[in-house]
Amino acid sequence: MKPAAQVREPSWRRLAFVALGSNLGESRQNILAAFHRLKALADEPLRESSLWQTTPEDCPPGSPPFVNAIVGLVPRPEETPESLLTKLQAIETEFGRRPRQVLNEPRPLDLDLISFQAEIRATKALTLPHPRAHRRRFVLQPLSELAPDLVLPGQTASVSRLLAALPPDRGMFRIVAPGGRPATGSANSGASQSAGRRLEGTRAPSTRRGSPI
Ligand code: ADP
Ligand code: MG
Repeated sequence: MKPAAQVREPSWRRLAFVALGSNLGESRQNILAAFHRLKALADEPLRESSLWQTTPEDCPPGSPPFVNAIVGLVPRPEETPESLLTKLQAIETEFGRRPRQVLNEPRPLDLDLISFQAEIRATKALTLPHPRAHRRRFVLQPLSELAPDLVLPGQTASVSRLLAALPPDRGMFRIVAPGGRPATGSANSGASQSAGRRLEGTRAPSTRRGSPI
């Protein structure tokens, strides 16, 4: 019989994934600083995606572009999805997030819990997995850098398959490679990229960004 140690779980099964977004203030710096704050919540080194610039959708007129990223973290043994969300909301407040006045108004930092291992929730305070994660390119694109084979609870397709099925979006650009380096020619399969340069088509113009969650 195979010893248990030889049956290795994919590492993403142990992770919680957090989606970061910012379109107010120094968004890129906010996201990088938030990475640093999230390290304190993790039992192991963070998995950090690239930073992506994305187009605001269903946001008030004149809303600035977003910077989006995903972090995968190994939660502390006593952490629950609820306790982690409370900590994420405290970090949002620390970064100047105010109670929402207008739907999808610009925010210095938004931290959404995309998934927490295999946990499922459907309460007012917490829906897990995040109910729109599977159809948001600004979530799936960075998530696919960390866990392309992840199948979110309730889904049958992996992150990479969900991503491939989405319509293209010409307004999405990688601006910082994993590890905080500015995106350069080697950041993505040899393609030349720099801040603001188009990387690949992604989100359809009509796709919704964040109805209230
Ligand atoms: P949005 O992320 O759409 O901009 P908010 O960040 O203002 O909206 O979140 C609104 C509410 O969504 C919060 O009060 C939070 O309790 C709830 N919520 C439910 N599920 C989740 C989740 N998976 N991640 C983050 N917030 C969630
Ligand atoms: Mg949120």
